[in-house]
Parts: sequence; structure tokens; C-alpha cells
Amino acid sequence: MTTKTVARRFAQHLRSARDGRKTPFYDWLRKQDQQAVRVDQLQEVWGPAADLGEAEIRWIAYLKREGDRLLNLSKGGLGPLGVLWTAEQREAARLRSTGRKGLSRFGEDNPFYGQFHSPEQRLKWADERKGQYAGQENPNFGKFGAEHPGFGHSMTVVARQELSKARTGAGNPNFEKQASQETRAKMSAARLGRPMPSSRRSAHTRHHTNKGVEKADCRYCVENSATPSLSSESESES
Ligand SMILES: [Zn+2]
Repeated sequence: MTTKTVARRFAQHLRSARDGRKTPFYDWLRKQDQQAVRVDQLQEVWGPAADLGEAEIRWIAYLKREGDRLLNLSKGGLGPLGVLWTAEQREAARLRSTGRKGLSRFGEDNPFYGQFHSPEQRLKWADERKGQYAGQENPNFGKFGAEHPGFGHSMTVVARQELSKARTGAGNPNFEKQASQETRAKMSAARLGRPMPSSRRSAHTRHHTNKGVEKADCRYCVENSATPSLSSESESES
């Protein structure tokens, strides 16, 4: 669907195909003789955008029912649809994409190389994303262990250090924020009767790491001085 002209939408599709977008449709489009691809306009919709989305949903459902081999991943419509792939679809996509060249453009090859988005633009995006995919809306909600796409993923030491640096001080989402009285009361009630610090590790974080103290008889101090690159200073403490 498009709110512009068919020609303009198709030009966007061709550009996405050229940029290497990985979907069954773009994989198909890349293989075609572009001069020979014909675009049909199925319906023109006047009125609110939601009607356009509804129309697309109806068309996709109808054509699928009729046996058309559509390449649409979702049932159509407006907004993020959280398409869930079956194991077979995933495997097929993996095979399609294996060894495919020219998809990611790194360094100077990237059209955005050396440029930065303005703070205003970044704030705008952050605002738009706020609360998106939270809780049950998150496609990975309730998935643990092998079920989770991040399962078995590990980061290099360098990547971990970079992430750590980026989230320290002003980069931390909680930097200079203080929980409300209400939240603090809740946290306090949850911990009532539990001795604090609750573990030797927590005691180490509070009394050694946070105060810059190192004790020879503390297991965690010793461990950290043995591997200074991967200290556990990021452990949360309240
Ligand atoms: Zn310690």
C-alpha cells in the first residue's frame, strides 16, 4: 500500500532491493528483469489511513485464500505487526541469506559514514520508541533459554568494555535520576527483613568497588585484580 503514486512506491521497492533488504519479496525482486515487472493497482482508498491498512489486510487474506503465492510476510495493515516466523521460514531465510554479498556496508562504504543524527532527531526517535514492545508486546516475552534468540550469544571483551563505557555516568539511563518516594517505599518493603548486603559479592561491590578499596582477603577483589579487563563493577546495587 502507499499514500503516494504506484510509480513512487515501486521505485522505493527497487531501491530497497538494491540495498539488499532481506525479505522473500526483495529476494524475488532482485532476481527479476526490472523492466519486465508489472505493478497492478488493486484498489484506491479514500479516507483515513486506517482504511488503507484494512484494505491491504483484506486483499492479502483474499488472494491467499484464492491460492496466490504471495510474498507478504505479514497479514498487512498499518503499524508494526510483529511477524512471527515458523522454524521452516527461519531456516529458509537463513539459507537464502547465507553467502549473500553486499548487504551490509561498513565504514566508508556506508552512505551514513562519518555522519551523526542530531540530538533532536535522536530524542524524537527515543520518544517514539518509548514503551514500544514492552512486556507482552515484546515478541520475545516469556521466552527463556534456547527459546530466546539471544541464547548462546556472547560478546567479545572489547565489545563488553565499549558497552560498559557507553553506559557509565551520563550514558546510564538512570544517571542522576532518583526513584520516587513511592517506588523507594516499594523497594524497601520488598527487602524488609533481608540482611544487606545480601551476598559477599554485593558487599564487595558496595564496600570495595564503589569506594575504590581493594582487600587481599576478598575473593572478588582478588578475582578482579587477576582479570582487570572484566571486573564486575556493573553489578547493580541498591
Ligand atoms: Zn572486594
